[in-house]
Amino acid sequence: MLLKGKVALITGAGRGIGLTTAKRFCEEGATVYVNGRSAEQINKIVLDLQAEGFDARGLVFDVANADEVKDAFRLLIKQTKTLDILVNNAGILDDALIGMVTVEQIKRTFEINTFSTLYTSQYAARLMGRNKSGSIINISSIIGTNGNTGQAVYGGSKAAVIGITKSLAKELALSNIRVNAVAPGFIKTDMAFSIPEDKFKERMDSIAMARIGEPADIANTAVYLASDLSSYVTGQIIGVDGGMLI
Ligand code: NAD
Repeated sequence: MLLKGKVALITGAGRGIGLTTAKRFCEEGATVYVNGRSAEQINKIVLDLQAEGFDARGLVFDVANADEVKDAFRLLIKQTKTLDILVNNAGILDDALIGMVTVEQIKRTFEINTFSTLYTSQYAARLMGRNKSGSIINISSIIGTNGNTGQAVYGGSKAAVIGITKSLAKELALSNIRVNAVAPGFIKTDMAFSIPEDKFKERMDSIAMARIGEPADIANTAVYLASDLSSYVTGQIIGVDGGMLI
């Protein structure tokens, strides 16, 4: 088991890529803190994982709320005193052409997709620094690396995550905390199915491997980045996109 004895926190793990990553980390022997905003949803997931014999725990907070993030980390420190892996996965997609986008959309998208990464990384870095060991994995997007029509806000929020990743990788390297990002292409989750039908077809047609990605494709890359298999890998943005040309 690649993550035996490690403690992980995965944000936005109520469904999609986050939930699959939580399950994969459990299978690899980690103690997994499952984050989401709905206590009811997270409790159910945790109970299901525990019923399978996994060490899963819930941590309910809104990643965009700095006070809630602070309280959540307080609770985590009380319970485990340690954190080995942080996956900043929570995110939203709210597409609009630049002429139509509202200030509210811009603020909300950056709060959830970008600011949250800084809030959680700050506390995680302190905790990981105590042990001189850790792995932070940020879920960016191919839209952050390549851009796309109607996605200036989302793409900007995800490109900023790449800047955060590279900067923190440099800042935290001497503490043996590795910071990397995954840039998924088009992955089979509720988020992917939320886009209009014509855009969906356009995306599918742009994938060289001619199949939509599975959440497990991202989760497996996260396992690699979380584990000692990637012990000399930091500051990298790993595209997991089936050869998508956008
Ligand atoms: P999803 O919508 O299925 O899951 C996102 C999760 O984040 C949900 O559980 C949601 O409740 C949670 N979340 C949203 N706001 C939150 C907040 N303020 N606090 C806590 N949790 C919050 O989407 P997904 O496809 O699983 O996406 C996961 C990540 O992957 C996102 O960051 C997304 O931008 C990125 N991504 C997805 C795709 C794709 O094709 N699905 C492609 C590139 C990048």
